Amino acid sequence: MDNNMKTTYRKRLEKTAKALEKNNMQAFVADTCEEACEIVKGLLREGAQISCGGSMTLNECGVMDIMRSGKYDFLDRAKASSPEEVGEIYRKAFFCDAYLSSSNAITENGELYNVDGNCNRVAAITFGPKQVIIVAGRNKVVRDLDAAIDYVKRVSAPANAVRLSLDTPCASLGECAGANIDNMCSGCKSDKRICCGYVVTGYQRDPERIKVVLVNEELGY
Ligand code: SF4
Repeated sequence: MDNNMKTTYRKRLEKTAKALEKNNMQAFVADTCEEACEIVKGLLREGAQISCGGSMTLNECGVMDIMRSGKYDFLDRAKASSPEEVGEIYRKAFFCDAYLSSSNAITENGELYNVDGNCNRVAAITFGPKQVIIVAGRNKVVRDLDAAIDYVKRVSAPANAVRLSLDTPCASLGECAGANIDNMCSGCKSDKRICCGYVVTGYQRDPERIKVVLVNEELGY
């Protein structure tokens, strides 16, 4: 990428990091995935029990390799052999030392916006794990909550529905069935719907709990 663009994106990430800090979340800006991984390693204690939400970003950035390095007690749902075991891992995640995830969108006002189908991920971001580490590429940063709602309906949710081979309207239309209705929760009535819980993370009481690593690369969707 052109260096001028990279610098412009960096300034936007720095502005967003300041806004997150005003909301009592710790924020870091990394120029590369390698830098982001070093930050994440610095936040994790060896031997800590960790878990994560489903995320393309964690895979693409290399954070999943850190989680599977053997240095941590990783509650890995990919190793579960039944839906019951997956459900058990979702519940155990609430007691973890650290929960890792991306965010569907992050506003320049310092808010995290997440939409979930099962809601295990939004639940763990909101309550439970002692520490939450969010890793997000620059493509997740949007101006405000209206833009975040729009981004999820037009980008995140359709792309995730395609990734998961779900038979939802967005997977075939390329956007949410409710994309043009001015209502956050508008959408389909599919039994495969992946938009059921809508969570905005704003000002935090505990300044130690949520850490956000903003990466100056395109990651996930
Ligand atoms: S509400 Fe339905 S159509 Fe809209 S993004 Fe979610 S799953 Fe797709």
